[in-house]
Amino acid sequence: MGRRKKIVQECERLMDEPENIRNIAIAAHVDHGKTTLSDNLLAGAGMISDETAGEQLAMDTEEDEQERGITIDAANVSMTHEYEGENHLINLIDTPGHVDFGGDVTRAMRAVDGALVVVDAVEGAMPQTETVLRQALREGVKPTLFINKVDRLISELQEGPEEMQERLLSVIRDVNELIRGMTEDMDDIDDWTVSVEDGTVGFGSALYKWGVSMPSMQRTGMDFAEIMELERNDERQKLHEKTPLSDVVLDMVCEHFPNPVDAQPRRIPRIWRGDDETELAEGMRLVDEDGEVVFMVTDISMDPHAGEIASGRVFSGTLEKGQELYVSGTAGKNRVQSVGIFMGGEREEVDEVPAGNIAALTGLKDAIAGSTVSSVEMTPFESIEHISEPVITKS
Ligand code: GDP
Repeated sequence: MGRRKKIVQECERLMDEPENIRNIAIAAHVDHGKTTLSDNLLAGAGMISDETAGEQLAMDTEEDEQERGITIDAANVSMTHEYEGENHLINLIDTPGHVDFGGDVTRAMRAVDGALVVVDAVEGAMPQTETVLRQALREGVKPTLFINKVDRLISELQEGPEEMQERLLSVIRDVNELIRGMTEDMDDIDDWTVSVEDGTVGFGSALYKWGVSMPSMQRTGMDFAEIMELERNDERQKLHEKTPLSDVVLDMVCEHFPNPVDAQPRRIPRIWRGDDETELAEGMRLVDEDGEVVFMVTDISMDPHAGEIASGRVFSGTLEKGQELYVSGTAGKNRVQSVGIFMGGEREEVDEVPAGNIAALTGLKDAIAGSTVSSVEMTPFESIEHISEPVITKS
């Protein structure tokens, strides 16, 4: 069996275990390293080869796919990662890095429960950092922080340990100040801030593929002095091998982002104003794969062969080919032609996708991004608010 097929099978198995699923987005100010980091994670999870990670080429060991060298421009990718002896399914939703796509970023946030916010260590928090944090928090999506381009502090700016530490702490302070300002009116008691001690902050270099967090440093025994020495001596490959970025970040994702079972009860009241006493509401709170189908479309893309693909989050029930589903705001029903997931940039058809997952459907001809698609007529989800921001021109 080809490697890709094995990964698809493992994803299908994990789709039935919502406790081991993490639906996440990576969001950043433009050029802070979101794409480079995403590629690293895919390479680390075996979805693309390590060598081509920087070139954004999705690859596989199956020959035809190697030859085709599929380019990753996909909105969604699923991957697996072993954490504490258990395999996890990580569904990564891409968020466009440009200001004019603000609406898409917000839509992506509806589908996920955690957002990894990437901030350039040299530039610090920038306007889009603030925007993506606002979008995440408004949707009840938990943020964690990855401070990228730390190699530049060491090799380029020649910062000493204290100077570097102070700079990293000031980035964390700024991000937490933004988070506090955005959550002070929230009526739940969740602490949304990030901290090194909790393990919700990671540092490193997406370009040179190394990363650390407090838990990873404790595990590997590496300290900042050693990191600085290896980075300065241009021993980045060694640094990558000792503390690979993808492991550190994917561990952080599994440990600190909520799974759908923990996230949905808190998120549903924020994003849906229907009657919370109904079985439908209960199905969404419990991520019930046997409940009524409730699917929220967050993106419509075009596939040259399959036509329009509606991707989004399954909040309740199980999606299957042939289902006749209501589409909010339209009369009548649409018939599901195929059900799939995204793997390394390509859609893979599967038999079914249960609650708690990200799915890609064909056949929903009336759906648009933002549609609520369901097996019974229901109050649609809250419309996704576009958070606009001033257009920033980079000098
Ligand atoms: P995005 O716009 O957030 O997706 O950013 P990219 O991933 O495209 O990265 C923007 C630029 O920063 C590219 O030239 C990358 O090679 C570079 N870059 C990304 N991560 C790092 C890093 O950790 N260190 C350094 N020195 N450069 C990086």
